[in-house]
Formats: sequence, C-alpha cells, structure tokens
Amino acid sequence: MKLLEDRIRRDGVVKAGGVLKVDSFLNHQLDPALFMELAKEWKRLYEGTEINKILTIEASGIALATAAGLEFGVPVVFAKKAQSINLDGEMLTTKIRSFTHGRVYDVIVSKKYLKPGDRVLIIDDFLANGAALEGLISLVESSGAALTGVGIAIEKGFQPGGALIRSRGVRVESLAIVESMDENTGEIIFRN
Ligand code: 5GP
Repeated sequence: MKLLEDRIRRDGVVKAGGVLKVDSFLNHQLDPALFMELAKEWKRLYEGTEINKILTIEASGIALATAAGLEFGVPVVFAKKAQSINLDGEMLTTKIRSFTHGRVYDVIVSKKYLKPGDRVLIIDDFLANGAALEGLISLVESSGAALTGVGIAIEKGFQPGGALIRSRGVRVESLAIVESMDENTGEIIFRN
C-alpha cells in the first residue's frame, strides 16, 4: 500500500538488529487518519469474507484493530499479557516469545469473547518472526472459532514469520512488506 510505504520511508527509522522504529505514527504517537486508511484497505482486501470479530494483542495492536473494527462494523477483542494466570477454566491461554523484549510471556483471552461460531480476523502492527501471530492463531484454534485471515500493517519480509504462517494455509494480508533495510544509509526496500 503506497500510502503506508511512503509514510515508512518518510518517518521510519532503521535501527541496528533489523528493528524498524515507527513510533512517530504507528506504535507510540498514533496517526488516526492513517489508521482509518489502513482499515479501509483491509476491508477492501477481505470484501466478501464473513467476519464477525477482530482479534489483536495489547498494546500496539489495539488502536489498529479498533480502526478495523469501525470499518468492518464488528467488536474487537485484545489478548492480554498476563502476569500470573488464574487457570479457572474461563480463559484461553498461550505463550508468546517476544522479539523486542526477548522473553516468554503468557497471553489470555476470555472464553466469553472468543467462541465456536466466531469468524475471526487477526490484526497486528508488525509481523517479524511470527511468534505473536502464532500465539493469536493458537488462541483462535483452541476457542473453536474459525480464522478467516490476518491483516498486518508492516511485515518484515526478511524475517521468517510471514512465509511460515502462509505455508500453513493462513491468508496474511500485509499492507507494507519490507524486503530489506540498511541501518547505515536508512534505505528501505519494499516487496512489490
Ligand atoms: P514477531 O512475534 O512476529 O517476531 O514480532 C511481532 C511483534 O514484535 C510485534 O507485535 C511488534 O510489537 C514487535 N516487533 C517486531 N519487529 C519489530 C520492529 O522492527 N519494530 C517494531 N517497532 N516492533 C517490532
């Protein structure tokens, strides 16, 4: 999506270790008008697909998922990062290894909000190694709901997550796919 690629070129900062900093518009300061355009693009891509719920993970997925929820006209559920899990049978749980923080944490969603019969679109800001997305997919699978697809803002195509998850037959629509980026020059190349 050209609008997003142009914005990443203008305001994104390439950091060491393959990290793309976009906190001036995507995950610290937020650009709501841009988010609505991203949401419209996911809506266009998933036209004709029955979706009744959007699932994301806190914190930076929530604003994007809310924009998508407005466009699709459906509720948004976010998976919570839990400090300690009260396994009372009311919660679906999984473990996710964080790329940015390098640790494993538990993630939970109430069974009240993800159920058999739901048709779920997962939305997130980044797809890198795919750990966050795999965790969200496993929550959908264990709930008995159907996964209709995934919408990602920025996929880092030089990391394995996108290929891994598509190879399992999951539809993944990333609005900008970074093919490569150079931390010395700041140059970012997108996949067509
Ligand atoms: P994954 O689990 O796919 O490796 O990484 C997904 C999560 O890690 C995203 O939700 C995002 O929070 C974070 N992340 C991964 N790579 C980057 C990056 O280059 N920049 C930023 N800002 N976040 C990233």
